[in-house]
Amino acid sequence: MPDPTLARDLLTAESLTSGYNGVAAVTDVNLTVAAGEVLSVLGPNGAGKTTTLLALAGLLPAMSGRTTAMGEPVDYKRPYRMARRGMRFVPDDRGLFSVMTVREHLRLSRRRPDRAREEFVLDRFPALAEVQSRIVGLLSGGEQQMLAIAVALLAEPRVLMVDEMSLGLAPMVVEQMLPTIRDLARDEGIAVVLVEQHVELALAVSDRAIVLNHGRMVLEGDAKDLLADRDRLETAYFGGESL
Ligand code: ATP
Repeated sequence: MPDPTLARDLLTAESLTSGYNGVAAVTDVNLTVAAGEVLSVLGPNGAGKTTTLLALAGLLPAMSGRTTAMGEPVDYKRPYRMARRGMRFVPDDRGLFSVMTVREHLRLSRRRPDRAREEFVLDRFPALAEVQSRIVGLLSGGEQQMLAIAVALLAEPRVLMVDEMSLGLAPMVVEQMLPTIRDLARDEGIAVVLVEQHVELALAVSDRAIVLNHGRMVLEGDAKDLLADRDRLETAYFGGESL
């Protein structure tokens, strides 16, 4: 029997419906993300992007449909199991402790005393290496976001989901960080899901994308095709029909 952890599609959703208090916020979402691939989840405010990520991470139950991560069903009753198997979710508030230093975050997050892994991660975000003794509350937004992603990377994730990385960041910082994530996905075989408001920047580093609107998928395709067909993308983004 094949080892399910070697499944090429590290994340899948089939007709995923999920929401809050019995009311669906997303309906019939379908997606797959393979090792080394970057998928962007796009859409206006309230479209259901965060809800989709929470359901994929096992942090919110699916009301119906099928979700798998690392080849096994997503277990929302035991989300820590998902984390142990290699799922990391970076929330839009970054999930850091403002009175702790960068170094303390890095020490707490590494799976074992693995200096090499820490150096590898800091090499990818050199700006962080220079502020290791600073507390998070005194970091810039960009440095905080780098730390949130660095903390996730220390765990050697197989699936990495990043919710609105660019929230509050200057576009220049986003332009630097997104290619780093793209490279990490490819080099380490991580399946990456990005929720982004900077649509063009996100598509430029993604393999594929889905667009949600009012909780439904209204468009999906290869990132380069979507970038080339701006009219179709805008129609979907600003109120397209569901697929
Ligand atoms: P944004 O870009 O504004 O974060 P989003 O695309 O991530 O939006 P979601 O946060 O997934 O959208 O929200 C989808 C829908 O679910 C919205 O109508 C929102 O009001 C609703 N919603 C989100 N969180 C909750 C919650 N905790 N309880 C009830 N409804 C919620």
